[in-house]
Amino acid sequence: MEILGKTAFDAIVVGTGPGGGSVARELARQGWRVLILERGSGEPLRGSAVQFLRKAMVPGRSLHFTPDLLALAHGITVGGSSAFYYATAFEPPYGMFDAHGIDLRPEVAALRRELPIAPLDDGLLGPAARRLMESARELGHAWEKLPKMVHQDRCRTGCDLCVVGCPHGAKWTSREFVDEACEHGAVLMTGAQVRRVLHDGWVATGVEYTCGGSIHRATAGRVVLSAGGLGTPAILRASGFDGVGTDFFFDPLLFTIGEVPGLEGGAEFPMAAGVHLVEEGYMMTDLVLPRWLHWFFTAQVGRVDRLAGHARMLPVMVKIRDELGGRLTGRGGIRKRLGEVERERLLSGHRRAREILERAGARRIYRSWYLAVHPGATVKLGEVVDASLRTEVANLHVCDCSVIPEAWGLPPSLTLLALGRYLGRMLAGDVEPAAARGSGRGEPDDGPAGNRDIPLGPA
Ligand SMILES: Cc1cc2nc3c(=O)[nH]c(=O)nc-3n(C[C@H](O)[C@H](O)[C@H](O)COP(=O)(O)OP(=O)(O)OC[C@H]3O[C@@H](n4cnc5c(N)ncnc54)[C@H](O)[C@@H]3O)c2cc1C
Repeated sequence: MEILGKTAFDAIVVGTGPGGGSVARELARQGWRVLILERGSGEPLRGSAVQFLRKAMVPGRSLHFTPDLLALAHGITVGGSSAFYYATAFEPPYGMFDAHGIDLRPEVAALRRELPIAPLDDGLLGPAARRLMESARELGHAWEKLPKMVHQDRCRTGCDLCVVGCPHGAKWTSREFVDEACEHGAVLMTGAQVRRVLHDGWVATGVEYTCGGSIHRATAGRVVLSAGGLGTPAILRASGFDGVGTDFFFDPLLFTIGEVPGLEGGAEFPMAAGVHLVEEGYMMTDLVLPRWLHWFFTAQVGRVDRLAGHARMLPVMVKIRDELGGRLTGRGGIRKRLGEVERERLLSGHRRAREILERAGARRIYRSWYLAVHPGATVKLGEVVDASLRTEVANLHVCDCSVIPEAWGLPPSLTLLALGRYLGRMLAGDVEPAAARGSGRGEPDDGPAGNRDIPLGPA
């Protein structure tokens, strides 16, 4: 704690995924003194399987299982899950946010001017992505290249490291926004796990966190929780909030995989192209995984006969919009069953993916077990937070996947980046939220006086 001395902060941002990275950057750019607390470490991404396993697949920490054996993975590191995501930039569900008085269009327009968002150049499309696009189009699907957040000049064809953490700096991650926040004076503290928010029932004054084996407190005029769809409700519950962590979505998915004789693939940027069938409630994309992950998912369903020949495998990811449901347990576990609707959606997507694969010349087609990677709606906008993403406790805001109010079914990173920018600008007074509970730098938006200029120090 000595390193922080008597520094006082205008805002504490908890978590460095797209939501946290974006709001921290915006506030720091506006001249706010920002403390960023991140549970994971900031070691450089090396593109190694071992590092990926340690940061995104530790059972009970970053990997969770539901009664249906769905595995939910997320990244615990600077950048959050964006360190390991596939960088596909889907347009936000504007209407869903309009209904709550939040217009994300100006934020997305500004982000588009800054971020490297574009479909991959043809030269970066791998053989599996090309083969699938050709076959899906022959069957009449509007299978298009997807917008990606990638510095394409740094991307290497035939490299499959993006999935386990791009070491070339080609894949855009929210680490870039965290770095920018720090360039503007924000202080990043890694290995700092926030346990609860300090508040008196009316006004938030800081957080309690563990770091280096001891408990600390940090205070600031604002607290923004961006610990992700699972992390944020856990902190809120520990801080005395009821009504969080229930009725959520997690976007279940499966892989339909076939073998195409002669295909020379196995290493390419995933989710390069695909189609979103809105009415049917699912999307399909190419998704080539590194060899060891292919082994993992294939062995999981007992298809040991399919372990060899990774380069000939043609995988389609089918990802559905699930119904809201389930609950998070007090110990961070996930209780949610797949209902009939979800199972049928997954199987219907699987059948269609099979047609595409057959058309592409694939044989011996099989499917993986179920997974999920986008938990959200655990702290819903309109229920727990208002249009200023504020909770019922003044000065306490939430900005991550957990506030998305409804199941949407598409990857949300661009939406979360836009939300972070919106919240940062709103707190700095640049944008007026409709029907929000209040705003203003470092001032409590209602209730007694705020708690700025109180030095940080061990509890
Ligand atoms: C394999 C995979 C592929 C994906 N592909 C895409 C894609 O192509 N496009 C897309 O848009 N999305 C994709 N996603 C989803 C996307 O990465 C997430 O939806 C997004 O990162 C969520 O952002 P967030 O800000 O809500 O939280 P997260 O990214 O989950 O970040 C939360 C952060 O908070 C930290 N934290 C948690 N608890 C605490 C605590 N108590 N104290 C301090 N820090 C804490 C975590 O370590 C983490 O850094 C993918 C996800 C995965 C796993």
